[in-house]
Amino acid sequence: MQFDYDDQNIFAKILRGEIPNKTVYESDHALAFEDIQPQAPVHVLVIPKGAYVSLDHFARDASPEEQVGFMQAVAEVCRITGVDDGFRAIANARTHGVQDVPHFHLHIIGGRQLGRMLQG
Ligand code: 5GP
Repeated sequence: MQFDYDDQNIFAKILRGEIPNKTVYESDHALAFEDIQPQAPVHVLVIPKGAYVSLDHFARDASPEEQVGFMQAVAEVCRITGVDDGFRAIANARTHGVQDVPHFHLHIIGGRQLGRMLQG
């Protein structure tokens, strides 16, 4: 699998500060911000700062430091948003996964009772 990163995607622009975002947490390796069209009271996107297209790209090619840093950001987002009653983490990938933005992102969704997953 070849991953071609498009540095004009919207999250690359957010990382470069060209587009504003509501930051929830930021570290050397990751940025977490509120989704512009929230599906629940908590809907945060966690993205690595590196140029990775999707979860499988990140899992294959990111350094151990980047991967640990990313997961630490996920932990911080869960702590900050207080999703103690639970949440869902979603990583859409490519066409079958209906991924709109080609920069790896993990949706953290919670703050209310969710339905069972996979309607389609
Ligand atoms: P995907 O379908 O790629 O997994 O989800 C992309 C997500 O990015 C969607 O939930 C969408 O609402 C969100 N999104 C798209 N453009 C922007 C933006 O400019 N700012 C923010 N904060 N979220 C965005």
